[in-house]
Amino acid sequence: MGKSRLLDQQTLIMNNAIALLDCNNFYASCERVFDASVRRKPVVVLSNNDGCVIARSEEAKQIGVTMGSPLFKVESLLDEQDAAVFSSNYALYGDMSFRVMNLLESFTPEIEVYSIDEAFLSLEPRKKSLETLGHSIREKIYKWTGIPVSIGIAETKVLAKIANKRAKKAELKEHGVLNLYHSDKTEAILKDTLIGDIWGIGYRSGLKLKANNILTAWALRETDNRLIRRLLTVTGARIALELRGIKCLPFEFVQTKKHNITCSRSFGQTVADYESLKEATLYFLTRACEKLRKHNLAANAVTVLLSTDRFRPVPAPYSNTATYSSTYPTDSNQEIQHWALKTLERIYKPHYEYRRAGIILSGLVPAEKLTKRMFDDERFEQQHKLMKAMDEINRKFGKDTVRFGGVKTEGDWKMKQARKSPGYTTNWNELLTVY
Ligand SMILES: [Mg+2]
Repeated sequence: MGKSRLLDQQTLIMNNAIALLDCNNFYASCERVFDASVRRKPVVVLSNNDGCVIARSEEAKQIGVTMGSPLFKVESLLDEQDAAVFSSNYALYGDMSFRVMNLLESFTPEIEVYSIDEAFLSLEPRKKSLETLGHSIREKIYKWTGIPVSIGIAETKVLAKIANKRAKKAELKEHGVLNLYHSDKTEAILKDTLIGDIWGIGYRSGLKLKANNILTAWALRETDNRLIRRLLTVTGARIALELRGIKCLPFEFVQTKKHNITCSRSFGQTVADYESLKEATLYFLTRACEKLRKHNLAANAVTVLLSTDRFRPVPAPYSNTATYSSTYPTDSNQEIQHWALKTLERIYKPHYEYRRAGIILSGLVPAEKLTKRMFDDERFEQQHKLMKAMDEINRKFGKDTVRFGGVKTEGDWKMKQARKSPGYTTNWNELLTVY
């Protein structure tokens, strides 16, 4: 009895439809939510240090701004077209992403957050059509967060990706939501999908398939298993099965376990003195430790990274990393700061102009399962409580309201972000004012 129920549940999941939800032009859309003056203009978002374009609104795509273009190359075009240009505001995007993902939970508990702006949902094929459900998800997200999304639905992840790509095209009638779950449209759409556009088929596999005259998703789906196994890796063979509607890629309800936490940035200007590098390192460390505690983890190793400018190293290229590991994992800034500074001293060389630094926390374990320490256990407990209290205050009153003595929030090492929008949703001081 127990066994057959388990089997039933498995069959149910096997029969479930997979929806892929993807936020349209996510970063650009986030900027638009809070700034009505840019709703009709082309919008672009820049990478760290305002270097190149990493997100574009539909209008920006239409005037010919390409992904990844350096700002200086498109600046005059953007000016001419009265475009809005933003530095990246990751606090805003992270928070908006969290809101979108949270709303999804009202539709199904089975969600795999795939990236900041994408999630897979496992949906029971029900009486009410999947397409109607797709539209209600889309409308609710738009109404509650202001973010436009596209939804593709099918039997497998790979097919859902293809459906999603199609649903993104504004000129098609299935704009917004496309349901290919046991649909007779699938064949035509797969015939219209080139090998290079299939999720999971890499460049090299693509070449091999093309050399064998397998040019579309439909052709790959129809290819004999033995030939597929000869041409592709195991992963490639799974993709081909997914195109036939057979689920081969796992659905991961729980986010994959974190192995490390990294915080590493390029500086706004190069810095040479130890004090500035120490400030930068402690600042990155503060951010990484916050993340560590947010996930209820502790770390037993810290790696410090340093490097000169990749393109203009002064006086010569130099980069180095070193790791400090401890017997006892911790989640206390005080302890990790101590480790990090010891490590920084080991790799710092004077007279170099550094462009980048960073830290990585690793050896992560759940914070509640820490082994008792032979010495110092009481002191660690106190620090642990202090950190929790500091996080709580900073969460309420804004980043760095309370911080440790050595931690500075400004310096030459800070990123250039001349055009950053306010932290509308994450900072009380930058809330939107309505007149
Ligand atoms: Mg997207």
